[in-house]
Amino acid sequence: MALDIVMLGPPGAGKGTQARRLADRYGIPAISTGDMLREAVQAGTELGKRVKAIMDRGDLVGDDVIIEIVRERLGREDAARGFVLDGFPRTRAQAETLDAMIDGGPLLVLEVDVPDEELVRRLSSRRICAGCGAIADPAVSGGEAAACARCGGTLVQRSDDREDVVRDRLRVYERATRPLRDYYRARPSFRRIDGARPAEQVFQAIVDAVERMAVAGRE
Ligand code: AMP
Repeated sequence: MALDIVMLGPPGAGKGTQARRLADRYGIPAISTGDMLREAVQAGTELGKRVKAIMDRGDLVGDDVIIEIVRERLGREDAARGFVLDGFPRTRAQAETLDAMIDGGPLLVLEVDVPDEELVRRLSSRRICAGCGAIADPAVSGGEAAACARCGGTLVQRSDDREDVVRDRLRVYERATRPLRDYYRARPSFRRIDGARPAEQVFQAIVDAVERMAVAGRE
């Protein structure tokens, strides 16, 4: 059975980091719509030109655009055994489309929760690698000479991680994405994870939830 996982949660909750670790552990792809859009912006493609201003002000890209990107990505060979989605779905229309795409199959939904003030603190001090997009370890983010631990690239601030844009992104999250909790909450495959803990503990809690749900799914 495919292991289809959605990481739900506000920007800065650690979804990206946890999604990649989870994907490594289960040998399935981590699919981040934000990373895909940032790559398009950097490459200067038609899509990139269309979405840049929207992303810079922290708004959501249109459902049609993002749904097509995800449909194409999930259709690829490496996603046949499962996937970890990070940053999708973000609206009710996206969530309903995803259910249709996986044909009503079980979807594990993990909502990573972190208080707002902690999110603002994390995001406005976050640095990512300009070369490979990796998120820098928070301990080295502030360091003057800090370079990406993975590829040695320069660490930069994401244009939408400035504090004013962060607050807008959190407002967008509350309005458009938080209601997805109600969409998913009644399902036995929904779990809330306390994300205000060290990343290692959060990962353990996530793996526990996945293992339990995978076992329940086989029974
Ligand atoms: P993220 O890296 O997930 O925080 O996404 C960065 C930005 O990409 C968001 O602020 C949106 O502008 C856009 N984006 C990413 N995923 C979606 C989505 N599922 N729906 C709409 N916009 C998205």
